[in-house]
Amino acid sequence: MDYEKRRRKLRRSLKKAGFEALLVTDFTNVTYLTGFTGDDSYLLVRQDGEVLLSDGRYTTQISQECPGLEAETRGPSLKMMDLIERVVRQSKVQQLAIESHSATVGFRETLTERLTSVEVVSSSGLVSELRQVKDAKEVELIRDAVDIAERAFAAIRATVRRDQTEKQLADELEYQMRRLGARAASFPSIIAAGPQAALPHAVPCEEPVGRDGLLLIDWGARRNGYVSDLTRVLMLDKISAKMRRAYGVVLKAQQEAIAAVRPGITLKELDGVARGVISDARLGKYFGHGLGHGIGLQVHEAPIISSRSDEELKAGMVITVEPGVYLPDLGGVRLEDDVLVTQDGHEVLTSVPKEFDEMVC
Ligand code: ZN
Ligand code: ZN
Repeated sequence: MDYEKRRRKLRRSLKKAGFEALLVTDFTNVTYLTGFTGDDSYLLVRQDGEVLLSDGRYTTQISQECPGLEAETRGPSLKMMDLIERVVRQSKVQQLAIESHSATVGFRETLTERLTSVEVVSSSGLVSELRQVKDAKEVELIRDAVDIAERAFAAIRATVRRDQTEKQLADELEYQMRRLGARAASFPSIIAAGPQAALPHAVPCEEPVGRDGLLLIDWGARRNGYVSDLTRVLMLDKISAKMRRAYGVVLKAQQEAIAAVRPGITLKELDGVARGVISDARLGKYFGHGLGHGIGLQVHEAPIISSRSDEELKAGMVITVEPGVYLPDLGGVRLEDDVLVTQDGHEVLTSVPKEFDEMVC
């Protein structure tokens, strides 16, 4: 990973936005900019350099993960705010931007009180703007995370029993991902049978997965910091004509939306492709969430694909495309794949089958 290049880009964005320096308070952003994987650490970025602010527990880890990076660590007698104050004073900046999505109101108030000669200002999205577009190495890591998730899914699919509970199947899926090299699941897996699947964020329960024909599985793996995020629906028994129809509509919506992925399309246009198919089938009111989101170091990151965003897709973004239809008390269907935006279109990174007949097991 070329962390220096990322910081150079960030300095350019700072300059453009009119900021003298930025205090990065979002730990994932710190990781993105330095390679440091610990938490409780901040990064002060100035036009002429940067310094990582951390604590003594991390001294060895910092020298291993970010050799050459200037770092200041605090001992047990010093609070992080004391260290921040000291380093900012030493840097002699007169204006300091902080990340508004991550810094609390209290943090900002204390900073303003302590650094009376520094103008503290809010900034938003400077690092996430960079994180949206992945480099080749990041795409490779996402591919690994996809591969692990897919092999784990194949393993549980081959052995699933109808009397297993949702919780047992979720545990088994997450164990398989770890066994195949994942650090962890990228988020708590969703395993939802029948009517439970009508809740887009269902929590696995102690009921058997085979109690209704339909079983929705939303899962992903994290490896080397990067994640995957997929959803499939298995048919463990006959399902109602209504749900079967919903499945066909969601599949068509997803296929058409994926086909439309290319640089330059706005997020609302892309969302509209899937929403149009679902609305034409008179199921529009049952698709109550956005079409997808970026994945990378986090499972939900920019860009967020919704009907309200005028932003455009750019080559290098990796997004999920996940339309769904949720019929209250009956069941839900969602299909989710991970898609790389390429110079001339897209590449689907996931390859688990999804035609209706392929999902019967
Ligand atoms: Zn998902
Ligand atoms: Zn997702």
